[in-house]
Amino acid sequence: IISMRNVRKSFGDFEVLKGIDLEVKKGEVICIIGPSGSGKSTLIRTINGLTPVNAGSVMVEGQEVHDEKLDKLALRRKVGMVFQQYNLFPHRTVLQNVMMAPVLVLRENKAEVEKRARALLEKVQLRDKEDAYPLELSGGQQQRVAIARSLCMRPDIMLFDEVTAALDPETVNEVLFTIRELAEEGMTCVLVTHEMGFAKEISDRVYFTDSGRIVESGPPAELFDAPKDPRTREFLSKVL
Ligand code: ATP
Ligand code: MG
Repeated sequence: IISMRNVRKSFGDFEVLKGIDLEVKKGEVICIIGPSGSGKSTLIRTINGLTPVNAGSVMVEGQEVHDEKLDKLALRRKVGMVFQQYNLFPHRTVLQNVMMAPVLVLRENKAEVEKRARALLEKVQLRDKEDAYPLELSGGQQQRVAIARSLCMRPDIMLFDEVTAALDPETVNEVLFTIRELAEEGMTCVLVTHEMGFAKEISDRVYFTDSGRIVESGPPAELFDAPKDPRTREFLSKVL
């Protein structure tokens, strides 16, 4: 469902992605780990076209993401993304936040979207907060609203970039629970995460990035318990 071939990206003279190859099948859960500045966020943002590439190809469902003629709106609908910063609209209620994109951007029927939004709030266990405003919620609750908001577009793929990095330790697990449920239901997920235990438990394959390259990838049991590359070993020895 996602296929990246020799993807390169530079900011000025600085090459952040130095030829990335990555493959994700429908229903798979992939985790990307690696040191700060290694290009993880840049990589994941090339998948939904947020960051343009300088060379190589990113295919999503058989279509080139970086083709100028591609319908950007259709791509944004198909590929949901959740960031470390949840960026909810502070003057809109939780329910309104979840409904906004399908109603305003996709021009979908409001009553139908509302039904779907309520079901999603139930799913992330925030049904009782639908009339609350974002700032009345904890970080973990806001992040679950952000996930529900993204799901309300009915994406085929979800991208998560360090979605628990800004949260209090107590609320991290609530968000991981939500993501685990999604993964178990068969959603195709690409996660950048510092939660190594979670990555090990949830992923079909883990990619370790360093300095803009994929150094090593494999099933979590192999990559975490028997890393082949010395850079992977060094990184894991620091974070595990
Ligand atoms: P972290 O774990 O800290 O989030 P990361 O692996 O996600 O790091 P990126 O955010 O992809 O790393 O950044 C990789 C490199 O690219 C960094 O050196 C960063 O400074 C640089 N970079 C990222 N975005 C831009 C930009 N818009 N303009 C210039 N340089 C950028
Ligand atoms: Mg990042």
